[in-house]
Amino acid sequence: MKFTDLGLRESLLKAVKEEGYTTPTPIQQQAIPVVLQGKDVLAAAQTGTGKTAGFTLPLLQRLSEKKIHTKKYKIRALILTPTRELAAQVAQSFKTYGKYLHFTQRVIFGGVGINPQLADLRRGVDIVIATPGRLLDIAGQKGIDFSAVETLVLDEADRMLDMGFIHDIKKLLKMMPKEKQTLLFSATFSKEIKQLASGLLKEPVLIEVARENTTAEQVSQVVHYVDKSRKRELLSQLIKSKDWRQVLVFTRTKHGANRLTKQLEEAGISAAAIHGNKSQGARTKALAAFKANEVRVLVATDIAARGIDIDQLPHVVNYELPNVPEDYVHRIGRTGRAGQSGEAVSLVCVDEHKLLFDIEKFIKSKIKKVHIEAFTPDPNIKAEPIQNGRGGGQKRGGNRNKQNTRKKKSNVGADSISAHGKKKNNSSKRADMESAPTENQQKKRKPKNPHAEKIGSDLQAKLDALDKKKPSTGAGSRQNNRRKK
Ligand code: AMP
Repeated sequence: MKFTDLGLRESLLKAVKEEGYTTPTPIQQQAIPVVLQGKDVLAAAQTGTGKTAGFTLPLLQRLSEKKIHTKKYKIRALILTPTRELAAQVAQSFKTYGKYLHFTQRVIFGGVGINPQLADLRRGVDIVIATPGRLLDIAGQKGIDFSAVETLVLDEADRMLDMGFIHDIKKLLKMMPKEKQTLLFSATFSKEIKQLASGLLKEPVLIEVARENTTAEQVSQVVHYVDKSRKRELLSQLIKSKDWRQVLVFTRTKHGANRLTKQLEEAGISAAAIHGNKSQGARTKALAAFKANEVRVLVATDIAARGIDIDQLPHVVNYELPNVPEDYVHRIGRTGRAGQSGEAVSLVCVDEHKLLFDIEKFIKSKIKKVHIEAFTPDPNIKAEPIQNGRGGGQKRGGNRNKQNTRKKKSNVGADSISAHGKKKNNSSKRADMESAPTENQQKKRKPKNPHAEKIGSDLQAKLDALDKKKPSTGAGSRQNNRRKK
């Protein structure tokens, strides 16, 4: 199948061609015709599959079919994303594919001044791409009018819920018109996602592309066992001896990311850190420098790395394994994107054997172990509980959250400042969490009145069928994994 077979207009095809794309990816093949027909969509698709163009292209076409001059405060399309980086990425796609159409667009997220955003919205904008926290802040100030929204996209909905945005999203949804097209993209289908989908989507077309784990199949994965104290040395050696030019390195904590960045710099390897405690300016700058090959290594934490899309990123290193097996798949999905091959290296110390075991169980395959003679682990070193942050213990999330709350007090963070520069909202705290919430936290976030959100039986059956097909990708399975620990 070619792009020209999808029913897209010439101006869009021209922009696609200029990007060098001739063949639509599976999600594009399935989603574009359906979205063009104006149907609601529930798509099981993760980043790296080409999903962004899958909704951007048909959405632009549908907007172009009506000649509407957007009025003050009104918008025609809203795309909600979990992170600022993903919002910026999606906005870039709209720019790229919509370059021969003349729509106005605005990215809305925290960590940057609110006034320019309010000023643009006052004039009326066709397309808004936003993270929920700042958007709700603006909506609270009556800085945006959703009454003319024709299409709503929830991108990486699972991640938005993981980050605790459900209440913000629900408040925003109440402000939207009932008659609209809604597209929901999610890599996993937890109970919360199903509830959200059932309340939101009308007779959705269910689209499923390659299972999450298949992304990993294009990525060669390798584990090097190494002592914790020698990881930095091994990483420097790998980068230098293999002449890696562009490496994305994951650490478990923000503090760890800063420390490793400093150590790499000291070893003569240019590096930058990207995590939730960095200002938006610093994050954008670090990402731009990395994309432009001005820094060789980008050290990132999990949340900050969501939405990073760099064509043909060749190397991902798990300097520390993630606590949640699913995050491993997300991490290595940064490489091997859209059919490119990539390499994912994990440096595993004795403390992390259990985490590795859980990851291998989750991806249903053993990762190749490659022994490096000079870095043979010392058999006398015993496993110790994993530290999840300054003063953090083995407990997942609990301590980390306290830490985040505490840190936030001094952090001029994302969505944390209202227009008056005073009030901080909860979503900002959540937005900078470095990992998914604990099971307890998830329980606490369950809706108070489950009857209010009963799932339509038809949709429920479809979703259950989807879950059965992709057992290892559901958030349910992630929770099970946690429970077993
Ligand atoms: P996404 O899943 O939307 O984050 O896209 C992943 C990557 O695939 C991005 O770098 C896109 O530019 C690229 N991409 C999107 N569509 C295609 C296509 N049809 N052919 C090749 N690459 C694509």
